[in-house]
Amino acid sequence: MTRQTRSLVIALLSLWLTSAGCRTNAPSHQAAALTFFGWSDQHVSVDGNGEHLVPAIDAMNALPGKPYPEAIGGTVEKPAFVFGLGDISEWPSRAALDTYEQLITKRLTFPSYDIAGNHDLGGLSPSNTVLHWLIQRYGALRYTFEKGGVCFIALFSEYDEKLNDPAQPISKAALDYLRQALAKVPKGQPVVVATHLCFEAITNRDELVDAFGTANVILVLGGHYHKATVNQYREINFVQLPSPEPKSAGEFTVIRITPDRLIAMPFNYRDNAWTTDKRTMLDAAIKVPARMQVQEQTTEPRK
Ligand SMILES: [Zn+2]
Repeated sequence: MTRQTRSLVIALLSLWLTSAGCRTNAPSHQAAALTFFGWSDQHVSVDGNGEHLVPAIDAMNALPGKPYPEAIGGTVEKPAFVFGLGDISEWPSRAALDTYEQLITKRLTFPSYDIAGNHDLGGLSPSNTVLHWLIQRYGALRYTFEKGGVCFIALFSEYDEKLNDPAQPISKAALDYLRQALAKVPKGQPVVVATHLCFEAITNRDELVDAFGTANVILVLGGHYHKATVNQYREINFVQLPSPEPKSAGEFTVIRITPDRLIAMPFNYRDNAWTTDKRTMLDAAIKVPARMQVQEQTTEPRK
């Protein structure tokens, strides 16, 4: 496929927008707490070997009911879903995708939401295998959904291979979609924006934060650099979700959102312990007006 054809295909794929997601005029509903797990950069190999994902998934399945570190208190509730932030595949082969699909639908016991990463586009040898699967499963490469009164925006961003640099801007098409999606979110409703690029990699952070406008964006999730990090920029919390690849620390992140508190805690499944690295954990106060809490959407992705 030529670069032009590939750009056209990606542009067309990006046009699949979904009407489902965060709704206006939703009835008021006070959600007590929302828990979800996050990971990224699973990099299932081209031949379909995804063995390195198994300990992470098994640890996710086993974590509910376990106590948080003392400073946080309480126990981990059952997660509403698991968010995967892209680079599902090392290269988007059918074998890699089949393995990933089997793992998240058969082994993982919670629903999964996913976003494409740069590897899922296929780099210099593009393939639409993972992109088509994402569209089939979630309705679009960019989509929104709602859980526990929080609006989630899964923000696929086009990746420019010819920059030959992992640090990239969030694409113009992604920023346009983000502004349109946020315009439909009821004023004050908490929003989590998730994209493959992490804070460290995003070269147009100001453009991204400007696109938030007056929306109540409480958290931006990224992946891409394979390790858990936390940054604050212009009063926005940026959390990078870790990778389960064999050379990584062996973590996934537990995120808990209540009306007034936001927690992101990496759990190390190789050590069977919470991280002790303060730079990778977030425990922040948030102020969300109770009137903006909206009812949880009941639609789940297809299993
Ligand atoms: Zn990446």
